[in-house]
Amino acid sequence: MIDQSTIERILDAANISDVVSEFVTLKKRGVNQLGLCPFHNEKTPSFTVSPAKGIFKCFGCGKGGNSVNFVMELEQLSYPDALRWLAKKFHIEIEEKEESQEEKQLKDERESMMIVSAFAQKYFSRFLLKENEGRTIGLSYLRERGIRDDIITKFELGYCPDGKDLFTQAAQREGYKMNFLEKTGLTIKREEWVRDRFGGRVIFPVHNVAGRVIAFGGRTLTNDKKVAKYLNSPESEIYHKGRTLYGIYQAKRDITKLDKCYLVEGYTDVLSFHQAGIENVVASSGTSLTIDQIRLIRRFSPNITIVYDGDDAGIKASLRGIDMVLEEGINVKVLPLPRGEDPDSFARSMSAGELTEYIKNNETDFIKFKTQLLMGTVENDPVSKARLVNEIVRSISVIPDTITRTIYIKECSRLMDVQEAVLYSEIRKIQNKQSEDHTRKEIQEIQIQASKPAAPVTQKKVANHFETEEREIIRVLLKYFHQEAFDIENEETHEMKSYTVGYYVLSELKSDGLTSVDPNFSFIIATLEENVDNKDFDPVKFFTQHPNTEISQFASNIMADKYVESKRWSKGGAFIETESELLYLLVPKLVQEYKSKKVKLMLKKLEQQINEASKNNDTEKLMEYMGQHMKLKEVLKDLSALLGFRTIS
Ligand SMILES: [Zn+2]
Repeated sequence: MIDQSTIERILDAANISDVVSEFVTLKKRGVNQLGLCPFHNEKTPSFTVSPAKGIFKCFGCGKGGNSVNFVMELEQLSYPDALRWLAKKFHIEIEEKEESQEEKQLKDERESMMIVSAFAQKYFSRFLLKENEGRTIGLSYLRERGIRDDIITKFELGYCPDGKDLFTQAAQREGYKMNFLEKTGLTIKREEWVRDRFGGRVIFPVHNVAGRVIAFGGRTLTNDKKVAKYLNSPESEIYHKGRTLYGIYQAKRDITKLDKCYLVEGYTDVLSFHQAGIENVVASSGTSLTIDQIRLIRRFSPNITIVYDGDDAGIKASLRGIDMVLEEGINVKVLPLPRGEDPDSFARSMSAGELTEYIKNNETDFIKFKTQLLMGTVENDPVSKARLVNEIVRSISVIPDTITRTIYIKECSRLMDVQEAVLYSEIRKIQNKQSEDHTRKEIQEIQIQASKPAAPVTQKKVANHFETEEREIIRVLLKYFHQEAFDIENEETHEMKSYTVGYYVLSELKSDGLTSVDPNFSFIIATLEENVDNKDFDPVKFFTQHPNTEISQFASNIMADKYVESKRWSKGGAFIETESELLYLLVPKLVQEYKSKKVKLMLKKLEQQINEASKNNDTEKLMEYMGQHMKLKEVLKDLSALLGFRTIS
């Protein structure tokens, strides 16, 4: 553990330009520096470094943060390791606090398991390419399958010799401990015997996002039906099947560059796609798709095309995956393959050009896919058709984005010959049901919380409905915190007094008792309140260098948001004034916009509660909610008047 004062010294020394320049050539552009983004492929630079603010931001892929975030992201390091990296670069001696025995052991254990896996991968690869058994059995099998040598090298394929514990012996001779060979599952040890898990199998190493080997898949070459065709490493401290995607390391660059990811089933599917020149492909290998896997893909792109076998099981599997993918706000397409083909056989049967062409012509959005598939079975049966409509509407209703939903409804209406209005009303029914369930759950949670008063309240991250307004508030607060922009007359003494932006915004927010559901927002506001009179407090520095990386990235991204700024001023008319000259106009407007959005949300929630209360015939509650509702309506009217809107009630 690194102590706090050392962390501060590192952060002070870690000049962002120096750090980034290690990896990217930067050119001066005004007060900033510009270069090609190391996180995505680009030809024209959109990667910006602001030495004054100590942050970087790519306007191409959206990555941003401070020096620590940069090193973490680029070198795939943990927070403490990124700090150590920076300390080394800037010659700062680290006073490490003693790690607890447990922490140390866990860290050492993971690292040892990674090291043993790296050794195993090299051993298996060498055996495949150099040893007689590897060449005649393993390599000739791969060649027979038409897998090229460059693909074998790229995926670091290998072969484990077929002799009880040859690999384990070799590893032990090199000094690797039995403990870690066992924990990674490479060796199986019983009281009376020891043997290699993957003996006689062709090896597919599984890499994590950073490219380190964390597990293996082994394919048998015997035709014995009793032997499992594929054998995988067991779950371990370094390998969680449900959080891993085969091929992600080799695919991540192209997924980002092409903004799209193909999802296939197995190891060889991935290899065949690469071989055909399509490299933005991953496999969920053996497990049915998990939420964690979807989120892993979404880190690189929100567009997924599911490619599954053309048989019934494959189609059913792809239907199962879809709703989950949709719920995560991902755009999903399906690539159905001809009956009897799997991605591997199919990709191998055609040239790269033909495959690309086939994908282009046959990729369908999921509504079309699901509809066509199921329409055939319902034909003239109105009851079955109604059930089908309902099922598809259910899938559409989970899509978070309104525009995408609208497009799907149009498509669905056309394909199934049902009026759009009917579909909309079905969706509303489902959503009402969902929000009722949600409200009920919330009430339950509140009741549970209330029943155990001593328990600390854990803040859950809830979807943020007015991110733009909150970000703008924070940006203006951080940037102009101490700037005096408001001259307010004291009513009694008629003395004019100047107030800072910080003072103004915070007291406005406080006066209405509005709280945010976003823990980052709430944390920043609370910290600013503590420091509103502290002239030495530098909010930009404090938050962009905050040890909690979520806070530092949140703050860095907000400080780098230039489009919000320019959008606001494009409305401003012919003459341009700088933002800082217009604070006395801008800031109050912003606060009002924020408040009215907030009030609208509260109204919506109240309306649900009113519904609920009237359904339960709870007159007392109903009156109370109605009263609150009326009051909020008034507040909203006042706010809208200030904003120059007209409310329609
Ligand atoms: Zn970028």
